[in-house]
Amino acid sequence: MKALVYHGPKKVSVDTVPDARIEKQTDVVIKLTSTNICGSDLHMYEGRTQVNEGKILGHENLGEVVEVGGAVDTVKKGDKVCLPFNIGCGFCANCERGLSGFCLTCADPSVMPGMAGAAYGFAGMGPYSGGQAEYLRVPYADYNCLQLPPDADEKEQDYVMLSDIFPTGWHSTRLANLEPGQSIVIYGAGPVGLMAAMAARIQGAAQIFVVDGLKDRLALAKEIGATPINTLDGEIGEQIREQTGGYGADCGAECIGYQCHNAKGAEVPNLVLNSLVDAVKATGQIGVVGVFVPQDPDASDALAKKGQIAFDYGKFWFKGQKMGTGQCNVKAYNRRLRDLIHQGKANPSVIVSHNLSLADAPNAYKHFNDRDKGWTKVVLHPHAA
Ligand SMILES: [Zn+2]
Ligand SMILES: [Zn+2]
Repeated sequence: MKALVYHGPKKVSVDTVPDARIEKQTDVVIKLTSTNICGSDLHMYEGRTQVNEGKILGHENLGEVVEVGGAVDTVKKGDKVCLPFNIGCGFCANCERGLSGFCLTCADPSVMPGMAGAAYGFAGMGPYSGGQAEYLRVPYADYNCLQLPPDADEKEQDYVMLSDIFPTGWHSTRLANLEPGQSIVIYGAGPVGLMAAMAARIQGAAQIFVVDGLKDRLALAKEIGATPINTLDGEIGEQIREQTGGYGADCGAECIGYQCHNAKGAEVPNLVLNSLVDAVKATGQIGVVGVFVPQDPDASDALAKKGQIAFDYGKFWFKGQKMGTGQCNVKAYNRRLRDLIHQGKANPSVIVSHNLSLADAPNAYKHFNDRDKGWTKVVLHPHAA
């Protein structure tokens, strides 16, 4: 089969690789009809992770079941399913509590002591191949396959966002403990930040601020119902306090991660977290879903090389704030978010800018990585004619 393979920093190509197949009787194989390029793929693309050369990338996957293992009960050939980017077993102590992003059964403990969690095509998240390919092996299929309703084809571009960014954006608002009628400041108008804004709107936020330095992305945030805050228009905390009676936002979300940049384009790993502490009111809660890594050997900053951050802990403590972190437990949300889409209450596909074939993927990586204007979200269609 054809698949998008990582060969080193900024080197990816579409290669012929062995077909995905059933390895355990609890697996299914799906034929990918939509698979997205994610901002977190770019950390790997840039060579800023420990991902192995030869890895098939792609963790935002939707497709049709074509092969079913003998121990699978509920998933049938021909079903149209969306897969959470995390791979869970459904029966470990964490999956049982709804923490499917921290599965103990599927994790690779050699990454670091106490490691939990697994994902398709991702650095440090187990041996699983990604779905930017014609076919994908899905472990523990009964648990991981989200069945799609009869409008699956018509709304495929919405449903594919259930694999990661819509639940992840939603998760940031839950980690922030947003309540109806409150204000939230969301850092990053990339795909996840925009999904966080949509989630906040659906949950009844009174004010939604989205912070970014790119005008095309801020325009999308405005379309979704948020107030754009341009980093070039001055200090963020001041801008937010001015619009919230002087106190700051009730809560905040970090949707950027460790490769955040200042207005001059330099990477400053602690910029966003410290700005959040400043822009969120005293006692407010902060949800961090942007990716941070335990080591970043190529970072320019000595602390960041060891995965550390110069954090304004004193101010955080003085303000009595709380912080929630980590990858999204997609299974905790995707069923309900699917139903919001099905009933016309959510349309995450508004952020899609490009629909391309798998052969176009290397070029798309380049444009997306360069943050070229208009390249907000790429959906690949490996079986498109
Ligand atoms: Zn993703
Ligand atoms: Zn598990």
